[in-house]
Amino acid sequence: MWARQRGSFIAFNVITLAAALAVLLTHLGDAAANAGSAAFWVMVVLAVLAGTQAFAAEIGPERIRVTIAPTVCFSFAILLTWGLWPAAATQAVACGVIAWRLRRTLFEAAVAAARYTLALGAASAILWLGEPDPFRDNTGSSLATDALSVVAAGLAWLAVYGVLFLGTRLGEGLPWRRALVVVRDQVLFNSALLVLSPVLALAARINVAFLPLAIIPLIAVQRLAQLSSQRENIARQDPLTGLANRTGLRAVYDRLVVGPPTRLGAAEPARPSLIILDLDRFKQVNDALGHDIGDQLLVAVAGRLPRVDPRVGVTARLGGDEFAILARADDPQALAQEVARGLNQPVYLEGLRVDVTASVGVATDEGEGFNALLRHADVAMYEAKQRGDTIATYDVRSDRASPAQLRLLADFRRALEVDDVDRLRAHYQPQVSLSTGRIEAVEALLRWNHPQMGPVNPEDIVSLAEHTPVMVMLTRRMIDRVTAQVAAWNAAGVSLRASLNVSTRDLYSEELIDHLAERIAHHDIPPGQLQIELTESAILADVRRAQAPLRRIADLGVTICLDDFGTGYSSLQHLRRLPISEIKIDKSFIAGMAHNRDDAAIVRSTIELARSLHIRTVAEGVEDDITHKLLAKARCDLAQGWHTARAMPGDQLPAWLAEHDDDGRAA
Ligand code: C2E
Ligand code: CA
Ligand code: CA
Repeated sequence: MWARQRGSFIAFNVITLAAALAVLLTHLGDAAANAGSAAFWVMVVLAVLAGTQAFAAEIGPERIRVTIAPTVCFSFAILLTWGLWPAAATQAVACGVIAWRLRRTLFEAAVAAARYTLALGAASAILWLGEPDPFRDNTGSSLATDALSVVAAGLAWLAVYGVLFLGTRLGEGLPWRRALVVVRDQVLFNSALLVLSPVLALAARINVAFLPLAIIPLIAVQRLAQLSSQRENIARQDPLTGLANRTGLRAVYDRLVVGPPTRLGAAEPARPSLIILDLDRFKQVNDALGHDIGDQLLVAVAGRLPRVDPRVGVTARLGGDEFAILARADDPQALAQEVARGLNQPVYLEGLRVDVTASVGVATDEGEGFNALLRHADVAMYEAKQRGDTIATYDVRSDRASPAQLRLLADFRRALEVDDVDRLRAHYQPQVSLSTGRIEAVEALLRWNHPQMGPVNPEDIVSLAEHTPVMVMLTRRMIDRVTAQVAAWNAAGVSLRASLNVSTRDLYSEELIDHLAERIAHHDIPPGQLQIELTESAILADVRRAQAPLRRIADLGVTICLDDFGTGYSSLQHLRRLPISEIKIDKSFIAGMAHNRDDAAIVRSTIELARSLHIRTVAEGVEDDITHKLLAKARCDLAQGWHTARAMPGDQLPAWLAEHDDDGRAA
């Protein structure tokens, strides 16, 4: 399909070229007959100058690129005064200048010149029929025929130009309707220019000094066209770096997936790929060195990203320290590597050396639209961060949910929306102090009872919701449940700290943290009675980025627990820097500690390490008495697990506690 279009595209342009050549050859005679006067050369110079003012505009909602250059009014004026050859030659030179300015190929310049030659040729034929030299009054013709033949020549010019332009656009594969819109605009612009030509021709005849005056309206037309195109561009541009913004990125995506493939030299157009990169230590630079230097760094990074040929892609800044490159790349991985390599050199800002690294996510369009592509690249980028790799490619298998899963997620969302208090609950699992035997805290765990399927494994639904906005909705409901429950317990004289599981996505939702603060105030709970649990990998994915929201939460007085500790290779360094009150040693280590000496050693050293940093330790998944005693001996602070109790509804807890405390005292 595309090959056929390219074939017709080239064929059409070659025919245009050949026809133009034929026209010129048949008019060879008048080439020599027009030795240039001063007026002629002034006109040529003006045409070339106009060529240097050319710019590429994108018109219509489809952003189809057209060239705007006010050269044709000069070449047409030359035609009216000196004939076809000088006009065609001047226009060809101007086309060369335009191509040089806009970095077009020689072939494109030649085709444009040929198109103009044929338009001028048609105009010339009409003039020859009507009034060969309308601006000389010694031919005896009436003023009316003079004017009429000029108008007719202009119309012929427009007709031929319009048809040829339409042919080229159709040959490129642009659909009829859109091609017509482009041609209409281009013809309109050119007719405004052609109207000026007779005035220029007259000025040239009367006094050369008038010529520059005549170009003032021309400058105005050009400037207006430029302004309106600039105004459209501003909305698509990031003012700091000059790259496209998200809107600009989207526009190029739309053009790439619906527009004609215009890359020369490729057999098959590659599907667009999106590369997203997120700088690794940007926040630190910004905080430590100030926003000015931060801005300079962003500009420097923008300068290092590969410039994509605008016909096949775009480089954009999505906001903050996130950049994107959209391109029809045959090998998107190679492009991603080029991006990473380009960044991997230190930047010097006001004498300071800043090392730049980034996490890069790559995804290729699956035909599911812009948002899906953006999300896929985002997922890959986070995977790169999480794995500590530079580059990750989106893997459908790791992300695509089955239709059944999507239905389940939709049901879950619905339950959250209507806030189904019967089916959507928090259960609470006690945490017992290993030194006193008293219950000090609980962990809130989601329980969802699906109307048809019954209880759904919380891990399953959480992993489905994790990368979607449903996650924030869930956490919001859990905040509501848990704060209300803690207040109810307080009123009943039971004082417990409650932990709430929070995902990475939640951490970056300011709204959610606001909501937490608001609920704490509403229920008048001491903030220290609430704790959030974040998995180690969630924080490690981007330690610097996590710092600010963690600080905000800690400033509320809510404590922070690092969940599943031991699975993410946290280093002492990370723990020191973050406002963490508690670590929860992952159940995989706890389960093994009674039988496996390595596990037992890891658990003991973790407890010691935490103790030296004044961080509380909780062991999760404590299932038997041996493990319980081993942990007590290792001076772990709290134990959570089936050995003590399973998670239970909040209103059952006070009764259970009374019983447990009796047991505790009895023991
Ligand atoms: P998690 O945060 O590691 O929660 C602890 C899980 O271990 C819970 O499973 C709990 O029931 C289970 N458990 C407790 N004691 C024992 C024990 O002695 N042995 C064993 N083998 N397991 C024990 P649950 O409730 O199925 O939750 C699974 C996961 O789902 C949680 O793991 C957490 O990652 C996620 N989750 C649950 N509720 C929420 C929530 O409200 N928000 C978020 N973001 N995630 C949640
Ligand atoms: Ca947890
Ligand atoms: Ca856990």
